[in-house]
Amino acid sequence: MLPDRKTCALLNRFQNKRRFKPVPVVIIGNGPSGICLSYLLSGYTPYFKREAVHPHPILQRKLEEALDVSLLDQDLEYLSEGLEGRSSSPVALLFDTLERPDTDFGGTAESVLTWWHEPDRAIPHLVLGKSAPGGAWQSIEGSMVTLSRGEWMGLPDLLFKDWLKQKRRGLRNNRATAEDIAQYYQHYVMKKGLQKNFRCGTVVTSVRKVSAEGVSNHTQKDLQENGDSLWSFNEKSTEVFEVDGFFKNVKGDKKPFSVYAENVVLATGTYDSPTWLGVKGENLSYVHHKLSALEEAVKNNSIGIMSDPVLIVGAGLTAADAVLFAHHCNIPVLHAFRRRVSDPGLIFNQLPKMMYPEYHKVHQMMKEQSAACAGPYERYVSLPEHHVLSFSSDKKCVFQDKNGCQKVYKISMALVLTGSNPSLSFLPNNGIDLAMDSDQPVNSKRNPIDVDPFTYECTQEKGLYALGPLAGDNFVRFVQGGALAAASSLLKKANKNPP
Ligand SMILES: Cc1cc2nc3c(=O)[nH]c(=O)nc-3n(C[C@H](O)[C@H](O)[C@H](O)COP(=O)(O)OP(=O)(O)OC[C@H]3O[C@@H](n4cnc5c(N)ncnc54)[C@H](O)[C@@H]3O)c2cc1C
Repeated sequence: MLPDRKTCALLNRFQNKRRFKPVPVVIIGNGPSGICLSYLLSGYTPYFKREAVHPHPILQRKLEEALDVSLLDQDLEYLSEGLEGRSSSPVALLFDTLERPDTDFGGTAESVLTWWHEPDRAIPHLVLGKSAPGGAWQSIEGSMVTLSRGEWMGLPDLLFKDWLKQKRRGLRNNRATAEDIAQYYQHYVMKKGLQKNFRCGTVVTSVRKVSAEGVSNHTQKDLQENGDSLWSFNEKSTEVFEVDGFFKNVKGDKKPFSVYAENVVLATGTYDSPTWLGVKGENLSYVHHKLSALEEAVKNNSIGIMSDPVLIVGAGLTAADAVLFAHHCNIPVLHAFRRRVSDPGLIFNQLPKMMYPEYHKVHQMMKEQSAACAGPYERYVSLPEHHVLSFSSDKKCVFQDKNGCQKVYKISMALVLTGSNPSLSFLPNNGIDLAMDSDQPVNSKRNPIDVDPFTYECTQEKGLYALGPLAGDNFVRFVQGGALAAASSLLKKANKNPP
């Protein structure tokens, strides 16, 4: 979804930025994290349902203590104390258990939250994103099935299963397709009336703290339609964020924009920047880093049954999706990965077989059909404990096995699918200074951004927040607690500084 003419004009006007007061909140990234925060900042307010009974008796007692107080105004640390589950973030666990009280025990109890729209609590904000609302789900291949149960992909107060039913579609083995998820997120933004805050087709290239001197308190009318907002620019602020970037108009031309913000929320996920192996020849045109390249090649018949094998590098789920796709199209596959097939750290060794039969099948293939021993699967060869040494221009790839032996294979194309990293090049020092270990790049699993667990504000930079995988919350059901914590913190700031 490219920006319409009104959006272009609006963003163009940001060039006169010194005439306008800063936007209270700019969210960078329009995936589930950005959408959920936009919902909360739009005045949608969660309360505990009076008649509800939560299966966790201590939590139930705490919730009954303040029935008339919105969750956003409560002490999240107190409410989340003692909760346990599949996330290490207390607020992620809290919000998840309120939304899906017994889901980890296979139950289907409905949410204990009720939502009220209180427009006077809304905080003006902008959500900037490269493509249509939905984030990574707009880029993931549409036929791919989620790892999570379908109902865990839903956002507050609009059940995914109800939307599916309305669309007359269903789940597959309790899981959803990426295409349905992407459409649901777009529908969510429209249904909840959030689209006026979204500026799709915009790419942020720089976020810097600058002096607030000369920043006016004059409201930009088009932008802050919510004239009687709770938020007023804090005249005493000595610094604000300058957010620069460009947007693409319908013709594809890039137009720069620049906007001031009092608070910036990083919700850019980790999908945009695939990991490279760092080997010779990796930049050759037949070496790709996205699964979509394989689909494209099949679609335009540049590979087929008679081609040399497609090399798939990696032993994660995206690599497995590529193996399944190629296998389905009868395209020969050479599958190389560094670990042993029995390595407990391999994702296949952690997934229940019943729920993920297709990934179990790939694991079987990896085990049973190595170059050394022929197995029952046609057109597939696995190379466990191998790593790529180089690619050459005549489409030959050199591998080395665990014993140091080198082998050469002729391939038709290569797909390096070994994960992805956040791209924070728009921040000073690539955001490294914000990470838990500020000597290493930000990584969602090993080195997330260091945030306060109850506000999601960066410990190293006040006014800067981080959500989702950037803050270590890797699943959609858990990114929403971060949005709750950030919204609660921003509302507290607004209340301290009434108009
Ligand atoms: C293949 C795959 C399968 C997955 N399966 C599951 C699953 O089954 N269940 C589950 O819960 N989670 C799953 N995840 C993880 C899930 O995608 C994330 O948890 C979720 O999408 C994170 O949401 P987010 O909003 O934080 O980031 P994202 O969804 O990644 O959205 C961030 C958005 O910000 C945009 N952006 C980045 N940089 C800029 C910039 N400079 N300017 C403007 N916009 C920018 C990006 O283009 C992107 O659109 C999967 C992820 C992948 C990659």
